[in-house]
Amino acid sequence: MKFATQMEAARNNYVTEEMKVVAEKEQISEQALVKLMGEGKVIIPCNKRHKSISPNGVGAALKTKINVNLGTSRDMESLEMELEKVNSAIDMGAEAIMDLSSFGDTRKFRRMLTKSCPAMIGTVPIYDAVVYYHKPLMQITTEEWLDIVRMHAEDGVDFMTIHCGINKETAEKFKRNKRMMNIVSRGGSIIYAWMEMTGKENPFYEHFDDVLKICREHDVTLSLGDACRPGCLADGTDAAQIEELITLGELTKRAWAKDVQVMIEGPGHMPMNQIAANMEIQKTLCYGAPFYVLGPIVTDIAPGYDHITSAIGGAIAAQHGAAFLCYVTPAEHLRLPDVNDVKEGIIAVRIAAHAADIAKGLPGAADWDNEMSKARHKLDWNRMFELAIDPQKAKTYRESSQPQKEDTCSMCGNFCAVKNMNRILDGEIVSIFDE
Ligand code: SF4
Repeated sequence: MKFATQMEAARNNYVTEEMKVVAEKEQISEQALVKLMGEGKVIIPCNKRHKSISPNGVGAALKTKINVNLGTSRDMESLEMELEKVNSAIDMGAEAIMDLSSFGDTRKFRRMLTKSCPAMIGTVPIYDAVVYYHKPLMQITTEEWLDIVRMHAEDGVDFMTIHCGINKETAEKFKRNKRMMNIVSRGGSIIYAWMEMTGKENPFYEHFDDVLKICREHDVTLSLGDACRPGCLADGTDAAQIEELITLGELTKRAWAKDVQVMIEGPGHMPMNQIAANMEIQKTLCYGAPFYVLGPIVTDIAPGYDHITSAIGGAIAAQHGAAFLCYVTPAEHLRLPDVNDVKEGIIAVRIAAHAADIAKGLPGAADWDNEMSKARHKLDWNRMFELAIDPQKAKTYRESSQPQKEDTCSMCGNFCAVKNMNRILDGEIVSIFDE
């Protein structure tokens, strides 16, 4: 069958090669997958030109996926350094890479990614427009904004963040309801400034049908951006955030009418007690479209540790229905992450995603944990290292403090409860004192 998008194929009950791969990875039947995709509840971001991709599905019924943001900036422009981060992110299990490059030859890097990278590639064309046109923001025309979207689609990008929910109405709501942190979305702040300076409507909102045409042609998934995501706890779940979400729900329906795959971007910073409700609100207002959350960061006081504050929020969000978690590194709010920051951020978000999958009862999600528990029971240290989410770190810790008794660790030594219980249950004498 000829199909424009994965969604169109699903709606015609046609199982694509990409769906077969995803069904196998997720231990879900092809029929169940096709049904969820037809309803927009699961997506397979997969640009027709991205030939090196290993397809993945994103949706609440599937394993929680993680995204890693990378890309050059004026202060760190080395393509080699960014590629090193990409490779290590993929080795560590990232299913998606968002290229947020905002300096230098952004097209070269983007094309390198879609030529060789097996992960889903996402971009934010708004950032790139400013770099590409190399002129003041105010002078970028509506046509030029749309041309950048087309260029990214032609370069093989699988999903694009488009900040089309912040229209004149949302902007008014934002102005009337003062915030502590205003707009903290980079793309959102750019388009808001452009709207204010030119007096024009958001071009992506006004010409949404043109955006859809491009996305349909290349099967680019729309990641409907949350320009008004809260940037601090005090702004969580406020009028502007919800107003924008209502608009994103309306745009979701319009995209689905053209068989364009959609996911919705979400908070942000938010107290823990608001997260579950936010997931429900999104599910309702956006008709079950997959939710892609940027955190949520659950406290504002921990610069240097925001991989932890966001992993807490991400785990809660995913347990309550978020399908896709964006990593946050310890460098968040402070600087562009280096290779080590990227690693710390990925491990933290993978833990969050995995913990949520167990809580959701996904088939096989706890198998890994059970294997680790068996190895711990046997005090099989090599197996524990093999199974650890970060084998090198686990090994380095153990080696840095060798116990007197090799089968225990230096935490309890002779008092090792695991060893002593194994022995007593095997009928051996446990002395502890003189062992
Ligand atoms: S020594 Fe203590 S911490 Fe170490 S393996 Fe035994 S029970 Fe666990």
